[in-house]
Amino acid sequence: MAQAQEMPKAYDPKKVEERLYQFWMERGYFTPKIDPKKKPFVIIMPPPNVTGELHLGHALTATIEDIMIRWHRMKGDPTLWLPGIDHAGIAAQVMVERQLAQEGLTRHDLGRERFLERMWQWVEKYRRIMTEQHKRLGASCDWTRERFTLDEGPSRAVRTTFVRLYEKGLIYRGERIINWCPRCTSALSDLEVEHKEMPSYLYYIRYPLANEGGFITVATTRPETILGDTAVAVNPDDPRFRGLAGKRAILPVINREIPIIADSAVDPAFGTGAVKVTPAHDPVDFEIAERHRLPLVNIMNQDASMNENAGPYRGLDRFACREAILADLKREGLLVKIEPYSHSVGHCCRCNTMIEPMVSKQWFVKIAPLAARAIDAVVDGKITIIPERFTKVYLNWLENIRDWCISRQLWWGHRIPVWYCNNCNGLTVSVDEPASCVQCGSPDIFQDPDVLDTWFSSALWPHSSLGWPKRTEDLDYFYPTTVMETGYEILFFWVARMVMMGLENTGEVPFRTVYLHGLIRDEKGEKMSKVKGNAVNPLEAIDKYGTDALRFALSTGTSPGNDLKLGEQKLEASRNFANKLWNAARFVIRSIEGQREAVGSPRGELPVEDRWILSRLNRLVANVNELLEDFQFGEAQRQIHDFLWGEFCDWYIEMAKIRLRSKDISPPLPVLVHVLETSLRLLHPFMPFITEEIWQNLTSFLPEDKGRAESIMIAPYPVANKEAIDPQAEQEMESVIEIIRAIRNARTQLRVEPSRWIEAVISAGDAKPTIQYHAPTIKSLARIGALTILGAGEQTPPAENSKVMVLKGVEVILPMAGMIEPDAERKRLEREIADNEAKMRRLETKLSDGAFLSKAPAEIIKREKERLATYRDKAGRLKERLAQLS
Ligand SMILES: [Zn+2]
Ligand SMILES: [Zn+2]
Repeated sequence: MAQAQEMPKAYDPKKVEERLYQFWMERGYFTPKIDPKKKPFVIIMPPPNVTGELHLGHALTATIEDIMIRWHRMKGDPTLWLPGIDHAGIAAQVMVERQLAQEGLTRHDLGRERFLERMWQWVEKYRRIMTEQHKRLGASCDWTRERFTLDEGPSRAVRTTFVRLYEKGLIYRGERIINWCPRCTSALSDLEVEHKEMPSYLYYIRYPLANEGGFITVATTRPETILGDTAVAVNPDDPRFRGLAGKRAILPVINREIPIIADSAVDPAFGTGAVKVTPAHDPVDFEIAERHRLPLVNIMNQDASMNENAGPYRGLDRFACREAILADLKREGLLVKIEPYSHSVGHCCRCNTMIEPMVSKQWFVKIAPLAARAIDAVVDGKITIIPERFTKVYLNWLENIRDWCISRQLWWGHRIPVWYCNNCNGLTVSVDEPASCVQCGSPDIFQDPDVLDTWFSSALWPHSSLGWPKRTEDLDYFYPTTVMETGYEILFFWVARMVMMGLENTGEVPFRTVYLHGLIRDEKGEKMSKVKGNAVNPLEAIDKYGTDALRFALSTGTSPGNDLKLGEQKLEASRNFANKLWNAARFVIRSIEGQREAVGSPRGELPVEDRWILSRLNRLVANVNELLEDFQFGEAQRQIHDFLWGEFCDWYIEMAKIRLRSKDISPPLPVLVHVLETSLRLLHPFMPFITEEIWQNLTSFLPEDKGRAESIMIAPYPVANKEAIDPQAEQEMESVIEIIRAIRNARTQLRVEPSRWIEAVISAGDAKPTIQYHAPTIKSLARIGALTILGAGEQTPPAENSKVMVLKGVEVILPMAGMIEPDAERKRLEREIADNEAKMRRLETKLSDGAFLSKAPAEIIKREKERLATYRDKAGRLKERLAQLS
């Protein structure tokens, strides 16, 4: 696509990214071709909630998935990455309700229809923003297949599943204790409740015994629920209460008579050993009540104010009621004592309001039969969870699972496909809207006002987004999908439920591999949050550093299941890497100019430098393919980075420059081009934009090749050529590099002027001819003016006044005289010694000052002591240097 013209001096992501993404889109590269002869690679993108803009977690998801997707596409697999957006029921409704609140309105002021119009406006706005953001991240997903959970297809899948499960008896409606959010006025599933340890009080309250003197004392953290008590329970084996079971007690304040019962669920160690039983407001009490056939008394309205069953407290908010009851109990002498008590309290995960356990008529999924199959799928190895340690977590949750409350008293979401009959009270459960009651034929029916838990539709996503319940070509070809990549925090919410529902609806697992990534934390390891102000906004990071740098920073050090630290430092390092690669590519491309015909593929007997870099490249290619196969994206990326930065840019290119200058008989150009071109393809899944931009530039300078792809993203992913592995060349070049490094380190250590040409003697023994061959490289890269290479039996110069370094197989001797001017160096050292001593004296005085020692914080004193130790150590070394010179 690019005309052969010189690359700009600096890489400017802004000038490249949008143009290239557009080019890829226009060519339709993101849409796979269905080929029945080939096995597809498929990822269904976890649909982000339509609750706002993408955050760094989404960027991580997109990066890791795009790495896999681009890699497989280049390998030639028909590759589908299906994007989507989730309507996010309760979470999205809360956002729009907040917006309304600012206008002084509630959803009830608008009514269901107008409220839903507002929801759709919100959705349209954020859907567009989120799609644009994914495009900026370079995500190569198939936008022609994008789905929204409320689209007609997925909605039909939801209704079909509901009806089928209902007909199988796996969905039922019942009165159960559920988690009630008084602000959202909706039921929540157990997973949507966040438990927080909170300081509270335990109140000891006397219940008078009926028909005789005395009391039974119970302890509770929620005294307002007394109003809903229908029994007092003790443990049957507790000797303190022998003879009390079967008697009756009088509920304080409202003077209702209730039985005293014995039930082994009562923990004798809690409070007094006697507990109040409030079946309508506590799950354990609900079960006790079922065993003893106790009545349920619900005392609260939906907003957690007290209802008509609360007698004199009717209309009070739950917390105001608590205060009022406590005051009344105190006055009547029934409040024995109050103890501080810390316990775990459930909060709504969306609005943070304290949950009220409440008995309520809701729809539930009978989950145990579904869970059993989801357990088998993992135990039998049909699904692999990466990292492996989450397998146990998954199994443990499914083995202890409770029925799933799926109805929500919200307006935003999939309406429950159930109609009630005003004539016969019967139910009609139907995929399509019925005209009349199936029981009696009456047209006087109305739909259940509730919607389904968002996760109910998410659980179907891998098959519903591919067309189920229709048997589409997509479903046939792409299902089961290959990898489900998501954060470990939604293993239960989502992954486990997809497995259950996938197996139930299609008879097959929804995916073969689950890859769980960790959380992103800031540089100090703290959780990112908008409130703390330490969150990195992905779009701001892209503006500042470029998409590739952000993606590279996100995949640096990433490994399955582990949290990741990210901050400016990593972003800067990633941008520096992009620039380094750009500069190296510019050098290679400039070298081609005017000698296009010299490029060709590397062939014939190659010099050792070439054999070395080709050997290293092929090792890298083999490793990277293996690591990607093994989901070790962070390590694969690190190895590519280290090869390009170190071996290719710092060594091979530097050596090639010498060869180009000296018009070497064997020019390095073919190998330079080959290594760069291969590395670009290797790196492409990680840094899609810069690799495409360089690749287009590079190939525009190369001889025409009909077989060459028109974009790097559809060029083949490199495959290792085992024959290129050359241990002998590697060993030889390692030894040359070791020599140059040792000399460079010595120069730094001895503070030799960087521009100064020094003298060196290498005692190489049998390796003399080899080292001799590399003499120009060593001289140029280590700045050696006069280099003497000695062979076996040749006398080495005396070691005095020299720096001697013993390396693997060779010895390097650097005469001091060649490196420094003794007089000037002596003077410089003396000055430094004097300066160092002055600093030492100041610190010594400070640290012997009693006033300082008594006032300064311990860490300051510690730091000053450390500084002194550093100066003392330096003094020793400076004096040693000075002595060497004399
Ligand atoms: Zn809530
Ligand atoms: Zn009817």
